[in-house]
Parts: sequence; C-alpha cells; structure tokens
Amino acid sequence: MRRYRYRCTICRTTSPVVHELEALAAVGEAHRQTLHGGHFPDDELAGQIDRLGRWYAALPPLTALHARIADALSDLRDIKTVGHYWWASTGATLLIAATAALALLLVASAL
Ligand SMILES: [Zn+2]
Repeated sequence: MRRYRYRCTICRTTSPVVHELEALAAVGEAHRQTLHGGHFPDDELAGQIDRLGRWYAALPPLTALHARIADALSDLRDIKTVGHYWWASTGATLLIAATAALALLLVASAL
C-alpha cells in the first residue's frame, strides 16, 4: 500500500496520509486554493512516504531501499498500522546484507 502526504512549508502543516496520487493532488490543490489563493508555496513537498512518515525522496538510497522492503513486509501483516515490525526491519536488513554478500561472492569468484 502506498502512502502519500502533502506539506506546505509556509504554513508548516502536513496533510493526513492519503493512499492515491489523485487524492494527494486534490489535497495540495485544496490547500493552495484555500490558504494561498491558488499560488504555489515555495518549497512545498508532496510525495510518497514510508510507514514511519519519512519522505522516500529525502532518504539516502540504502535507507530508502530498507524502508521499501520493511514497508512491504510490514504490510503483509497489517496495512492499517504505522511503523515497522521488528521482524520486518530485521528481514529487510538481512535481505540487503545477503544480497550484498552474494554480489561480493560472485565478484570474488569471477576474479
Ligand atoms: Zn500553506
């Protein structure tokens, strides 16, 4: 399940979580029309967030990969909750580490 939020840095407010891009666009448009007369606030943010409420775009690549895997594993258990289950976070870490170890082994065996 994808989660999105809109943030206005002028008003310093963040929208509730929505689950579709169309809803995200509607939230942003409603905020701009209501509070800014249709103008686009400087540095406004709109995008996908992880289960911890962090913007994927603001995360370093390895952290974003870990968050996506942990999100997917946590969604298997319950899509309504927030946060990562400990086993999902650990599973994501182990999966990334195993993939890195496998890649290292393949490179080492090829040399
Ligand atoms: Zn605003």
